[in-house]
Amino acid sequence: MRRESDLSWKTFLEMISSLSAQFVATPHHKVDKVIQQALDRVGRYFNADRSYIFLFSDDTRLCSNTHEWCAEGVTEQIEGLQNLEVDIFPNWLRSFNDAKPVHIPQVNDIPSDSVEYGILAHQSVQSALMVPMNTKDGLFGMLGLDLVRTHKSWSDDEIAAIRLLAGNICSLLQRQRAEQKIDRLAFFDTLTGLANRSLIRERIRQSLRSSQRSSLYNALIIIDLDRFKSLNEEYGHLCGDELLSQMAERLRRFIPESDSLARLGDDEFAVLVDSVSSELTDTLTRVKKLCETLNEVCTEPYELDGQRVHVSISFGISIFDGDITDVEVPLRQSDIAIRRAKASGGNTIRFYDNHLEVLSVQRTSLLQDMRQALLNDQFELHYQVLVDANQKPVACEALVRWNHPERGLLLPGVFIPFAEESGLIVRLGRKILSLACEQLQIWQDDPLLGQLPMSVNISMKQFRDPGFASFVASLVDFQPQLCRQLKLEITESLLAVNLDDVITTMDKLVALGLTFSLDDFGTGYSSLSYLRSLPLSQLKIDRSFVREVAEQAQSRAIAQTILTLGTNLGLDVVAEGVETPDQRDELVAMGCRIFQGYLFAKSLPAAEFEALVRSENIIG
Ligand code: C2E
Ligand code: CA
Ligand code: CA
Repeated sequence: MRRESDLSWKTFLEMISSLSAQFVATPHHKVDKVIQQALDRVGRYFNADRSYIFLFSDDTRLCSNTHEWCAEGVTEQIEGLQNLEVDIFPNWLRSFNDAKPVHIPQVNDIPSDSVEYGILAHQSVQSALMVPMNTKDGLFGMLGLDLVRTHKSWSDDEIAAIRLLAGNICSLLQRQRAEQKIDRLAFFDTLTGLANRSLIRERIRQSLRSSQRSSLYNALIIIDLDRFKSLNEEYGHLCGDELLSQMAERLRRFIPESDSLARLGDDEFAVLVDSVSSELTDTLTRVKKLCETLNEVCTEPYELDGQRVHVSISFGISIFDGDITDVEVPLRQSDIAIRRAKASGGNTIRFYDNHLEVLSVQRTSLLQDMRQALLNDQFELHYQVLVDANQKPVACEALVRWNHPERGLLLPGVFIPFAEESGLIVRLGRKILSLACEQLQIWQDDPLLGQLPMSVNISMKQFRDPGFASFVASLVDFQPQLCRQLKLEITESLLAVNLDDVITTMDKLVALGLTFSLDDFGTGYSSLSYLRSLPLSQLKIDRSFVREVAEQAQSRAIAQTILTLGTNLGLDVVAEGVETPDQRDELVAMGCRIFQGYLFAKSLPAAEFEALVRSENIIG
């Protein structure tokens, strides 16, 4: 039965759809406000006395009233309705779990000896409608409407519309949770809770700015455990993680400012010491003293799994002032210093100094070699397969290799950073894209390979090059098949500045039919608000999370969060670096559908890759 006035029914439907449209564009800090408005409008429309949302705990044993709207003169209930045991309403729970609404036109019609009757009668409720929010993981929440002063029976149409609204609120809340989680993860290391590389980078930036005014020296200290790898092998990864947590705790006690102490990765920590002194020698002395203290603190024996473990550590230090403008410089310098400390056997403190010209000479010759290599066609592409849950190839990623005449096949880790630093990446990147397109042309008529999308990695500098979009456009030359197959992988670092320019460039290429993937997702910067504004088609879960997905609850949570987020935004999600069946199974259970990693295949030269795809024999 429709409401008396079709006009107001139409208004109601319009309201539901406009609310839902609003949800899509709501950033997570505004979610609660938007839900509050929705409850207000729905409550008023039905002349209800109360409209509200309950959310269930993950194990569905408790529930809490999280949002409530009350008509004028109706007492709020929200405070008294926290952490309720769900056993108190078994009949409703059964309906909710079956994804069925509970519709009570007249409270007096339900058995007066039921607990549910007691709950409603106690609040003087006359009529109620409660609509569950179900997700694939189970019962998530419930949207309800109570009438105290009159009775009401809701029509099927009305119930359907409210279910739609509840479903949309449910997606919105899930997305909010996922985004809050990732925002937290973006700046903090999950194992130790310390700041991560992104955050310490921001702090270095601030120090640089303030020392431009103060002309005081700052220090960046990298602390690295000696022989952590063999410790890990000897005692196991869990003990390794435990050691790192304990060490982080000791460091934290000495360096209380949360953003001056970071974990950079594996067993590497960093301490930023701001405004030490205006005198260089004074600075050096003080920093050295601090390192000695930290050394004492961190090398006290550790209790791991009932065993006493002794460790030694090394320090690499960069001293810098406001003359430096690039935040990467202190990071790089302290990294060189720590490597020197390690090379000399560890258990030592090293400052970066300018006697390291040897290194820059090496770098210069590498650059010259690379220029030559571009002319002599020494770069080639290898291809790594992406598979679905049935091991069927669904795409490939092109990975560059340098066929060096003397040093053999070099991996990108050796030369891409230098190419980026020197700007040569623009030319190298063009070469790589040309090679990828040539290969796509060769495979064009093949029934299998002619269908496979191919991802190509794009460096930040390359993407930012003003000629980038037009170069790609000229390369694909309006060939629809090429455009469809070519996917460009970018990383979050690209998104840190000038998002609008990035979007403009992406839009141009998307208009041609190309797609974009966000690589190494979860490791990078910034808030998630950009995700919605970018024309992406894919997210790749970074392999650091995949590696631990079968063992570490936190990595599992991150992977799950990314998967949920991707699904909510309509993006494909790829798990990369899948090495074991356990990892794959765990990811499948979380709903991941595309996989890449050594479990299936390493990257292979074109001919071998062809053979692999044709054999359809991808073991995993
Ligand atoms: P990426 O984009 O994250 O590429 C994936 C890397 O992970 C590849 O290393 C691949 O061989 C490796 N990998 C794949 N499966 C597994 C696995 O199961 N376990 C482990 N441990 N590793 C796995 P690769 O080829 O050494 O490339 C390293 C990085 O160099 C790439 O990381 C990418 O950032 C960069 N790179 C590679 N090719 C290009 C390129 O053509 N252009 C640019 N700009 N960067 C490139
Ligand atoms: Ca990649
Ligand atoms: Ca990656």
